[in-house]
Amino acid sequence: MNDFFQYAVSRLMPVFCVVGLTFSGLANAQNDHCMEVTLTGTLGGPAFHKDLAGSGTLVRYGTVESGCSDVFLQFDAGRATGMRLSQLGVAANKVDAVFITHLHSDHTVGLIDLLQTRWHFFGGPMDLICSDDITVKGTHPREMSCGNFGKNITAAAEIAGEIAQRSSESKKRESAGPTSMVNFMPVTLPLPSTPRGVWQSGDVAVSAIASTHIAGHLSYRVDTPAGSVVIGGDAGNEKAAPPRESSTSAGVELISKNADVLVHSTIHPNFGPDNGSTFPANIFYRQSSSTDLGALAKRAGVKNLMLTHLIPVLGADSHGIYPVPGGALSEADYEQSARESGYKGKVYVGKDLMTLRLLESDQ
Ligand SMILES: [Zn+2]
Repeated sequence: MNDFFQYAVSRLMPVFCVVGLTFSGLANAQNDHCMEVTLTGTLGGPAFHKDLAGSGTLVRYGTVESGCSDVFLQFDAGRATGMRLSQLGVAANKVDAVFITHLHSDHTVGLIDLLQTRWHFFGGPMDLICSDDITVKGTHPREMSCGNFGKNITAAAEIAGEIAQRSSESKKRESAGPTSMVNFMPVTLPLPSTPRGVWQSGDVAVSAIASTHIAGHLSYRVDTPAGSVVIGGDAGNEKAAPPRESSTSAGVELISKNADVLVHSTIHPNFGPDNGSTFPANIFYRQSSSTDLGALAKRAGVKNLMLTHLIPVLGADSHGIYPVPGGALSEADYEQSARESGYKGKVYVGKDLMTLRLLESDQ
């Protein structure tokens, strides 16, 4: 078992919360800097599953006195991200920046809600960081454009007349609609093969690195005096399928060097084609397995591994339309698979609103 402390906090009820313990003598100093990493959603893929929110991670930073609440960074914004932020007491207008790993709906549909709500309640522009337009050649040529996504995010509401109707209700409401809430900061091409700074505010610096999943996928790292966290997203190995040494991304491994926390999507090895699963092999292979993530965390010297975007879902005998061979998986199954790598750091099997707090005085 992990030696971390678990408790339900009334403000987060009824959802589960975990806070990393610290026994530092300075732990309660009000001017100590802190960073909190919260999983705002742990569901992997576009299926619905009960009350699980879509993929996302909130990173906040500040002082103990401010409740680590001076800077709010949201990484991916899947279904019900706004609801989870509300449970944390974070209004849509408070978010400083949203970073998107890739343009799959399980990571983006919550952004529509965030922007529309922000606009409705007279918020200002928020930074949106994601990869610049990418043209994909081959048998299914297409353009992946985060800029187009941001610019057209509430197109249906505009076409339907809702934006004009709501604009008519208040002169304070920006007539350009929710897209006026986007300050697009594209990560320019070619996407970085070594970490590149993409956002900064005071003590908080965010860098990005290209990683493989779909075109334009990025992984991010936040560095603060209180510690560092890497958001791997759905990254997988550049080599599409075995034989290969690992299912994990070389880019994520590079940007994770000595990080305090690695938050990463995972797929359990049991769900693979070798185990009789009907889950599509090509989708299985473009994710990082829990065992390989443990090995990556060990090699990179990561102290805490937070598994999220769990495929299959904890405790469910199917993931979407795909049965889980051998039946539902438990937290212990996920942790054990990560431990098989020999990783000795802390393993957190993600649940919505699970939170890890880091303190500058512990660095
Ligand atoms: Zn995903």
